[in-house]
Amino acid sequence: MKIALVTGASRGIGRATALLLAQQGYAVGVNYVNNDTAAHSVIDEIQQAGGKAIALKADIADEAQVVAMFKQLSAELGPITALVNNAGILFRQTTLENLSAERINKVLSTNVTGYFLCCREAVKTMSHRHGGKGGAIVNVSSAASRLGAPGEYVDYAASKGAVDTLTTGLALEVAAYGIRVNCVRPGLIYTEMHASGGEPGRVDRVKANLPMQRGGQPEEVAQAISWLLSDSASYVTGSFLELAGGR
Ligand code: NAD
Repeated sequence: MKIALVTGASRGIGRATALLLAQQGYAVGVNYVNNDTAAHSVIDEIQQAGGKAIALKADIADEAQVVAMFKQLSAELGPITALVNNAGILFRQTTLENLSAERINKVLSTNVTGYFLCCREAVKTMSHRHGGKGGAIVNVSSAASRLGAPGEYVDYAASKGAVDTLTTGLALEVAAYGIRVNCVRPGLIYTEMHASGGEPGRVDRVKANLPMQRGGQPEEVAQAISWLLSDSASYVTGSFLELAGGR
């Protein structure tokens, strides 16, 4: 049985990934932090199509909540075989001299600590070292880790730099224990995240600067994630897939 956990799955890239994985036969844990209605609409859509999904309400930055979420997933669906570390945050566009310690720490606690905690719990279940059957992890980073997001959110970009390094380190650490760890780096994708940065229309403003001259859709990112999780990518680990329209 293929059992996936997708963090931040009530909207955007996480939602598209949860729907695609369910279509491909995964039982899916739909993690979300606030919006019960949005999470349940994802689950309803999966169930109406004949798939299996459960709601997992947890703040990934909170260690106790992450541990409880993995316990619930295991009890209700079975041992995890695929983790998509997707939940992420950013705040309003600004320059570095305006960043407070509070803001920086908030970004890091979700985008970095949250990813580490979910990896940790997944590895404990998947690793051959602990009697597990192996599995695959995909971390959702960002093209911002390469570009730095100057004048917008260097704190967010740096958090994604940490996600890249987590991917490399963990991939090497668990390669011999049946776990593949890979990363996708989306560029400008049409989701509600840009509104959190204070500019809902950001993708359309900057898309002309991209080689492909268009923004990406969450479904296009979901396809890459599902391939990296699948047996078709069985010899791929520690790899980075750019989904940034050529940038
Ligand atoms: P989004 O804001 O639509 O989705 C993010 C989801 O994560 C939201 O549902 C949010 O509630 C959830 N979340 C936030 N903090 C959480 C927490 N502590 N615990 C659990 N859930 C939490 O944004 P999106 O564009 O779908 O982003 C998904 C991922 O893709 C993020 O990691 C983001 O950094 C990355 N990304 C997005 C873009 C883009 O252009 N949209 C580009 C590069 C990378």
